[in-house]
Amino acid sequence: MTKRLRPSPLDLTYDELQNLIAEWGEPAFRARQIWEGLYRRLVDSFDTMTNLPRSLRQRLAAEFQFAQLTPRIDLLSKDGWTRKILFTLPDGKEIETVLMGYHTRRTVCASTQAGCAMACPFCATGQGGLQRNLTTGEIVEQVLFFERQLRTDEARPERSRRSGRDEDRTDLPTTRLQDDATTRLTNIVFMGMGEPFVNYPATIEALRRLSDPDGWGFGARRMTVSTVGIVPGIEKFARDGGQVNLAVSIHAATDDLRDQLVPINKRYPLRDLLAACRSYVEATRRRLSFEWALIDGVNDTLEQARALARLAQQMPRHLVHVNLIPLNPTRGYAGAASRRERIAAFRAELERRGISNTLRVRRGIDIHAGCGQLRQSIAQN
Ligand code: SAH
Repeated sequence: MTKRLRPSPLDLTYDELQNLIAEWGEPAFRARQIWEGLYRRLVDSFDTMTNLPRSLRQRLAAEFQFAQLTPRIDLLSKDGWTRKILFTLPDGKEIETVLMGYHTRRTVCASTQAGCAMACPFCATGQGGLQRNLTTGEIVEQVLFFERQLRTDEARPERSRRSGRDEDRTDLPTTRLQDDATTRLTNIVFMGMGEPFVNYPATIEALRRLSDPDGWGFGARRMTVSTVGIVPGIEKFARDGGQVNLAVSIHAATDDLRDQLVPINKRYPLRDLLAACRSYVEATRRRLSFEWALIDGVNDTLEQARALARLAQQMPRHLVHVNLIPLNPTRGYAGAASRRERIAAFRAELERRGISNTLRVRRGIDIHAGCGQLRQSIAQN
């Protein structure tokens, strides 16, 4: 017999919560109190919603399971700037969420699916296939988990590690992610496991939930969704995305190469993809970024740089930006990161053609912080 899985309170929309409260014969203002507990005070159990009568708290606890994500492995990079957690879901599936710091910036990288069906060969998640979509609550909880950590004093490893027996140990990494100046997340990127536009409704609902002004109210402009290039998803997102940023994982600028690196290209080839990107920026007037993992000898050639520039030139110049990132090597893929000189030559080629670009530094290599890598390394050891 399978254990009955209770839903997460974070799966409810505000309307659903109101209906439930009415059904239970509770006064309407209870819905607002619960919502504020969930998204303003960010409580992590019904017990701490002490403004509710005990009977209601008990009823909620019987119907809903609060924390659905159980941290199974929690790793801090040696430099202290990247923290990665492998979470177990109630059905035993696993997902990864990463917190990255950079000066006062605190970015959480969240997953939208357990696994991924897109099968990009260089991506650890793609190598493992799809397990299932995440619910809205599971997406939202990843983000709130880290926000709570940043807010809570006792949760700061820097302090706890420095007190007591560990005081003299120098081999333990010390987090730089939690200090008095940075007690809030500043950015959210949906660049963890999975393809957001294959799990479109839950992803859009999560974006709305996180930015709900009656709830947590996180700024939509500080959120980014990254897609492999699902054309109908990009078209819908132009209408639904509001101020949320869009990134497209392009990785190759000719169909023959992109068919190999991003197999969904066979369904949505570059011509259609670019048309969707162009309509998106024209409709939203928001800047779109192209993601490009630089793979030695594969897509870091000058021909690819020129082809990429030609694609980017199809869009209004100020509305397109290229994010370059040296490949994070994975077990299932033989490719290596591009070498420094080749990266420089690739960038020079883009710059000569007026394409704005940045080179992202790879973070947390020592903790397998690349998409899906931690789960892969655990599964294989
Ligand atoms: N499915 C979405 C989001 C998840 S991956 C997408 O494809 O955009 C987030 C980004 O990391 C994508 O650009 C993806 O191509 C890239 N990525 C995946 N594996 C990588 C690796 N091993 N090295 C560098 N970038 C990688």
